[in-house]
Amino acid sequence: MPIARIRKVSPSITAIDMNGPFQVAVFLVRHERGLALVDAGFPGWHYAVLAAVESFPWPNRITHVILTHAHADHVGSASQIASAAGAEIVASAAEKPFIEGVPLARAARDLLPRLVLRVNHFLGRRRLPVTRVGRVVAEGDVLCGLRVVAAPGHTPGQIALVHDEDGVVLCADAVFNFGQQIGHDPVPGMTVDARQAEGSMARIAELGVDHIVPSHGPPIVGDAPARIRSFLEGRRARRSA
Ligand SMILES: [Zn+2]
Repeated sequence: MPIARIRKVSPSITAIDMNGPFQVAVFLVRHERGLALVDAGFPGWHYAVLAAVESFPWPNRITHVILTHAHADHVGSASQIASAAGAEIVASAAEKPFIEGVPLARAARDLLPRLVLRVNHFLGRRRLPVTRVGRVVAEGDVLCGLRVVAAPGHTPGQIALVHDEDGVVLCADAVFNFGQQIGHDPVPGMTVDARQAEGSMARIAELGVDHIVPSHGPPIVGDAPARIRSFLEGRRARRSA
């Protein structure tokens, strides 16, 4: 079992930080009729999420499990949480097949992600509980107060979610914030298309929202767009040097 820690992100959003094989956050988003869960953690972590929800004031039923992308640390407990809560599982059309079991290696063109994703699938991803996406969302859709923004690259159909009322972007793995370093990808081989991922980072910065909350690492507060832009400029400069 992971060690779970509750962290308030904004008036409507609470993170549950799970420390298992590595740190990943899932998010509970308060809306009129209950809670939306953004991502679900590794398989077997459903107890931590369901226990955390118990401590929330009514209405505290999880109505939707919104999955940003198909990686095991984001979708692993989705089906167990959704069936315990009677919630609908939501994702983008492009990500749906991968969440439902198609190996992500098939979407990768470069050798490194093809290899890493194939090994990852063989070692763990294929053993995940079966997850069925019940509802598909697209760019611009608003669900439970969250606006969908396409953020492909890390995976083909990754989405980020903007909470306009609270001024927060849940950017999933479009932007990492590991070891005080914005943008550094801890496992580059897990990213299907690095160039496209870079474009999505730029898009997240262009949203103009100052409070950006990644799934891995602490939130980037205050000047997030400027810090992302300077990371991207630095990377481009290194590439052309
Ligand atoms: Zn990921």
